[in-house]
Amino acid sequence: MSERTSPPATSPPRSASLRWRVLLVLALAAIVPTIIVGVLAIVRARDDVQREVIRGALAHIRALGSALDGTLQDSRRTVELAAATWADAPDDAQRTQLLLKRLRRDVPIVHALSILDADGKLRYGDPVPAGAAVGSHSFGGYVGDAVHAEGRPVVHLVVQARGRTGELIGVFVASLDLGFVRDLLAAARLGPGARVVVVDGAGVPVASSDGGPLGTSSLAGKDPAVDRALASSVEGTLSTAGWISAYRNLSSYQSLRGVRWAILHQQPEDQAYALARRTTRDTLIIGGVALALALALGGFFATRLTRPLAALAKRADAIAAGNADRAPPIAGPGEIGVLGQRIDEMARRIAERSELQSALARGDRLASVGVMSAQVAHEINNPLTTVLGYAKLLAEDKPDGHPDRAGLDLIASEAERMKGIIGGLLEYARTPRQSEREIGAGTDLGPRAKPDAPPSTEPATVMRHVGALLDPQLKKARAKLVTRVESTTPVAIDAHALQQVLVNLVQNAAQAMTATPDGESSGRTITITAKPAPGGIATLITVADEGPGVPAADRGRVFDPFFTTKAAGVGTGLGLAVCKHLIATAGGSIELGDGPNGRGAEFRLVIPNAR
Ligand code: ADP
Repeated sequence: MSERTSPPATSPPRSASLRWRVLLVLALAAIVPTIIVGVLAIVRARDDVQREVIRGALAHIRALGSALDGTLQDSRRTVELAAATWADAPDDAQRTQLLLKRLRRDVPIVHALSILDADGKLRYGDPVPAGAAVGSHSFGGYVGDAVHAEGRPVVHLVVQARGRTGELIGVFVASLDLGFVRDLLAAARLGPGARVVVVDGAGVPVASSDGGPLGTSSLAGKDPAVDRALASSVEGTLSTAGWISAYRNLSSYQSLRGVRWAILHQQPEDQAYALARRTTRDTLIIGGVALALALALGGFFATRLTRPLAALAKRADAIAAGNADRAPPIAGPGEIGVLGQRIDEMARRIAERSELQSALARGDRLASVGVMSAQVAHEINNPLTTVLGYAKLLAEDKPDGHPDRAGLDLIASEAERMKGIIGGLLEYARTPRQSEREIGAGTDLGPRAKPDAPPSTEPATVMRHVGALLDPQLKKARAKLVTRVESTTPVAIDAHALQQVLVNLVQNAAQAMTATPDGESSGRTITITAKPAPGGIATLITVADEGPGVPAADRGRVFDPFFTTKAAGVGTGLGLAVCKHLIATAGGSIELGDGPNGRGAEFRLVIPNAR
C-alpha cells in the first residue's frame, strides 16, 4: 500500500528574516575589512609616530651636543693659540696682561683664567680653580669633566705653553662657564611638554631647557634615563614612568673624549604620542562612520533585494489561492526577474490548464447531452416521419380552400422543421462516414451532400461544388462568393465532411450579411481562400464575410451545440458544433476571428494535408 504524503503546510513569509540575514552578511562584509584596515592603520600610525618622535628627539640632542662641543672646542683652540703666543715672551707682563684681556674677550665663556709656570706656580691671572688637574697628561689641551664651582657648572681647560724647542714654559688653566648651555637649550624648539637636560658626570644637571634653578643634587639613581645615559657610550632611548627619553653621552663626540657628561631629551609619552592618539581617534571615527554608512547602504540594498522576493512570495500565495490576476507581475533585476517571469508563466499555464479542465468538463457534459439528444432524436424521428407522411397525404386529399388544408400544411411544415432539427442532432452525434452514407433532409445546415459529391479532397474542387450548390441561395441573398486557391494539395478529410463544413460556413455568412441592413459600409462578399498553412504540412482554409461579425461575448460559445442568435425556427445552433466536430475528427482545427479589414467574421480552418 503506497503511503501518501500530505502537502507541506504553508509557511509564513520569510522575507523579513532573509532581509536580516542579507544585512548580517553585508554587515560582516563591512565590519571585518573596516576593523582590519582600522587596526592596521592605527598600529601603523602609532609605530610611525613613535619612530618619528624618537628620531626627532635623537636628532635634536645630537644637534645640541655638537653645538655644545663646537663651542668648547673653539674655546680650547683659542686658548691654545694664546698659550703658543705667550710662550714666545712669557716674561713680558704687560703683553701677557693684554693677551689675557683679549682672551677673555674672545672666549666669553671663560669664567677664570690662570697662567702657571712650569712648576705649577701662579704667574698671571686668577687663582687656579679647585679641581683642575694640572699635569703632564694635559699636553695639547685637556677639557675636564663638568663640575660645579661656586654654584655654577664649569669645565676646566688645561693647555700647556711650550717654547719653539718644545720645552714646557707654562700652563694655561681656564674655567669655562657652562651657562651658555642653558642659553643653547633655552633657544631650542621643543615639542609639547618636552625638556632637554644636560647632566655632568655625576648626574648633576648642568643646564635644563625649562630654565629652573638647577641645584647641585644628582639625578643619578633617581632618573633611570640619566643612569642609562651616563653608563652608555653613545645614545639610546628609554620609556619609563610615562616618559619617553632620548639620551646621548656627550663623551661620544670625538673632540670631547674623556669628558663625562650627557644630554637628555625627555617628553611625557601622552604628549609625545598625541599625534598617534589623534590618528587613532580619527581612524575610529572614520571607521565608525564608514561602518554606519555601509550598514545603511546595506540595509537599503537588502530591502531592495528582498522586496521582489517578498513580492514573489505574495504572488505565489495569490496563485495558490487562485487569484493570480490580483497580485501584480514581478519585475526585478537578474535572476529574480527571471524567477518572476517563470512564476508568471507557471501561473499562466496553471490558468490554461484549469480552463482546459473546465472546458473538458463542459465538453463531457455537452457530449452526454449530445448522446441523449441523439437517442431522443432517433426515437422521435420515426413517429415524426409518420406524422409528416400522413399530414402530407391528408393535405393532398383535401382540395384547395378546404378548411382543413391550411392546418394540415402547417402540421407538415412544422414536422419538416422538427425533422431538420433532429437531422442536425443526429449529424452531430454521427461520424463523418456515417454522415456520408446517411444524407438527411435539408436543415439550416444546408443541403446534404449529393451522390455527385466531390470525389477529390482538393480544396479547389470542394470549393467549386459548394459554390454550385449554394448558388441559388447566394443569389437570393444578393451575396457574391469569391474563391481564391493558392494550394492544390488534397487535404486529409472526408470530401463530404469538408463540403458540409464549407456549406455551413457560407450559409452562416450569407445569413449574417442578409441580417445586416444594406448600407454603404456593409458589403456582400463572401471570400473562401485556400493556401498552405505555416509549416507546410497542412492547408489553411478561411471563410470571411462582410457581415457584422460575432460579438466578443459570444465568441467562446459559437461552437457550442444549440448556441444560436437566430430566431426560433431559423437557427438550431448545431451548424458550427457539427463543423468543429467534423474538422476535429480529421485532426484539424477551426477558430473564429475578425474579418480581413477588421469587420465581419472569418473562420479559419487548418486541415492536415493528405499524404
Ligand atoms: P445557427 O446558424 O443555427 O444559429 P450555428 O452553430 O451555425 O447555428 O451558428 C451559431 C451562431 O453563430 C449563430 O447563431 C450566429 O450568431 C453565429 N454566427 C455563425 N456564423 C456567423 C457569421 N458568419 N457572422 C456572424 N455570426 C455568425
